Amino acid sequence: MLMRLLLCCGLAAVVTSTQAMTLYKSTDANGVVFFSDRQTPGAQAFVIQERRVERVKPPMPLAPQPRYSQQAYRYPLPWRGGPFRLSQGPNGSFSHTDAKSRYAMDIAMPEGTPIIAARSGVVVKTENEQEGRGSDASGNFVRVRHDDGTEGVYLHLKQGSVSVRAGQRVAVGSPLALSGNTGNSSGPHLHFVVQRASEAGLVSIPYEFNQPVGALPNFALGN
Ligand SMILES: [Zn+2]
Repeated sequence: MLMRLLLCCGLAAVVTSTQAMTLYKSTDANGVVFFSDRQTPGAQAFVIQERRVERVKPPMPLAPQPRYSQQAYRYPLPWRGGPFRLSQGPNGSFSHTDAKSRYAMDIAMPEGTPIIAARSGVVVKTENEQEGRGSDASGNFVRVRHDDGTEGVYLHLKQGSVSVRAGQRVAVGSPLALSGNTGNSSGPHLHFVVQRASEAGLVSIPYEFNQPVGALPNFALGN
């Protein structure tokens, strides 16, 4: 809002500092060209615009950095064991198509794999009771709010395995639960997504692991 106000003031300064003046170009009987500020028959009008740029405000200071820096933090792998592989990445056509999950990553792993916090923060919500597909597509999950306001969400966890509760602070590597296959899950895997609040609700944001994770072949695409 402040930036918008500053921008408007800047534009206003430019507009008010522009002065227009009309001159008329004529040629007399002797072929002499002259300019006058008075209109005479047959004269050609010129509008001279003079910009007093010295009155324009100096350049605006840089906008503050956004609170949510997408690249600043690289996530350690949120599991113990492996190596495991990516079964669906960002923009995956199977289920990573809406705003909440667009940049999620699915990592195929056996049920019961220890899931650990990839970033420190405070647990804000958990679900631990869901059996199988259940009614919630997320299955059992742990949601951790990081100190910058973003949230890391660990989905499809094994029923009864969640070992943290809302309000609890966790550090990188703190055990959260065991992986599972609950909710909208076509096979044992972890769906890990980073989200932030927006006017439209929670939206996923791109993130990167701090080490490469191999990808499984995408059988649907035949490669
Ligand atoms: Zn997923």
